[in-house]
Amino acid sequence: MHSSLTSTVCSTPTNDSVEKVVKNDAIRYQRKGYGLISAFLLFFSFFFFMPKFIKYIWPFFLENMSPAVMFFTIAISLHSGVFLLSNLGMYAIYMMKLPFFERYRILDKPWPWESSPEIWRSVLKKTLKTLAICHFIIVPLLTLGEIKAGLKMRLDLESFPDLKEIVGQILFFMLSEDFFFYWGHRLLHHPKLYPYIHKIHHEYNITVSLCAEYAHPFEFLVANIVIRLKFIEIVNLFYIVTYKFWTKDLGK
Ligand SMILES: [Zn+2]
Repeated sequence: MHSSLTSTVCSTPTNDSVEKVVKNDAIRYQRKGYGLISAFLLFFSFFFFMPKFIKYIWPFFLENMSPAVMFFTIAISLHSGVFLLSNLGMYAIYMMKLPFFERYRILDKPWPWESSPEIWRSVLKKTLKTLAICHFIIVPLLTLGEIKAGLKMRLDLESFPDLKEIVGQILFFMLSEDFFFYWGHRLLHHPKLYPYIHKIHHEYNITVSLCAEYAHPFEFLVANIVIRLKFIEIVNLFYIVTYKFWTKDLGK
């Protein structure tokens, strides 16, 4: 009797809870503030600015590089370049402590380098070592493996995607990546797997930009790259520009 009453209450939102949701959403948008501007910029970048820019510089790559070299250069430089640049930007934000950025912080806790500098130094060392393995060994080896297996992606200028194709591909990536990320992440939290692999990623109890890719090399390779993203490359449907910019623009 009690449980059925509880479920009825939960499944039928009262006017009061709807009001609460609306109120919370208003606060959420106020908090986001300028974040919405960057969301719009990212949107226009995906569909308008970036395709135009890439189409302009593409002939340079095609004339000076073989498809294999081109694929390798784009894969490595985009992945590590975006990760490095976004972390440098975040480092500046952490150090400057400007009120403009501080209001976006989720937790009030001090940063780990402020609360326990000694421990932070050893954590940082371990993080950089793990990131180096992922960026300088795993990604290049995987990319070379892909080239050896035969490139499936389109690189030519003639079949450069139009707006309709870009929109379709981005929509597909949004759905498929969320699907695979959700199930991959859920699997990694299984008690039989968690202590051996995913525990490393959750060593950080405060979100710092560097920990975005801080994970056990197995998790980085299998869950983050192969299951979530690489299957897209196997399907010979996508143009490298849309795919790479989707996977790298968002810092993935
Ligand atoms: Zn997790």
